[in-house]
Amino acid sequence: MSEDTNIVLTTVDGMVDGFLNWGRKNSAWYLLFGTACCAIELMQTGGPRADLERFGSAPRATPRQADLMIVAGTITYKMATRVRVLYDQMAEPKYVISMGSCSNCGGLFQLAYSVLKGIDQVVPVDVYVPGCPPRPEALIEGLLRIQAKMEKERGWVRRLWTKGRKNSEGAIVRAPLADAYKAGA
Ligand code: SF4
Repeated sequence: MSEDTNIVLTTVDGMVDGFLNWGRKNSAWYLLFGTACCAIELMQTGGPRADLERFGSAPRATPRQADLMIVAGTITYKMATRVRVLYDQMAEPKYVISMGSCSNCGGLFQLAYSVLKGIDQVVPVDVYVPGCPPRPEALIEGLLRIQAKMEKERGWVRRLWTKGRKNSEGAIVRAPLADAYKAGA
């Protein structure tokens, strides 16, 4: 072998991980839904000025073809169970951004009897974006953090032979509402 021959050594696992992660990270399609005023900001972020599609993220109107759920707006207890149904209909691997104070912790309405005090009581959240509403730049930062998380994921070959990820890392599914959901409340 001549001196200027270049040899790259890698593992199948590493190659597949890198390739799949590159593809997933640049095509994180988000579920098209919103529950209050943060949704207007989400629409604005998807519009031509902020242009989320620069990062490969386009809206999908069905959970079965969405990789990312952006919870944008106040969530009432009544709506929380519907959000969980949408989350369950998304295929793994899936990610969740909680956008804005209402989704993060109930926000302005956290003392209201009907408002959920954080969407992480119902679905596992990967990234929280603060603000009321968050500016498009903040939501873009949230998306970039999801992309960074996707890039670091390893073990896809192994997952092809197993049942896949059970939950997003750092997932918190708090008991009371999750139990109520399971009970069909
Ligand atoms: S965080 Fe503010 S802008 Fe967003 S849904 Fe709540 S009240 Fe509206």
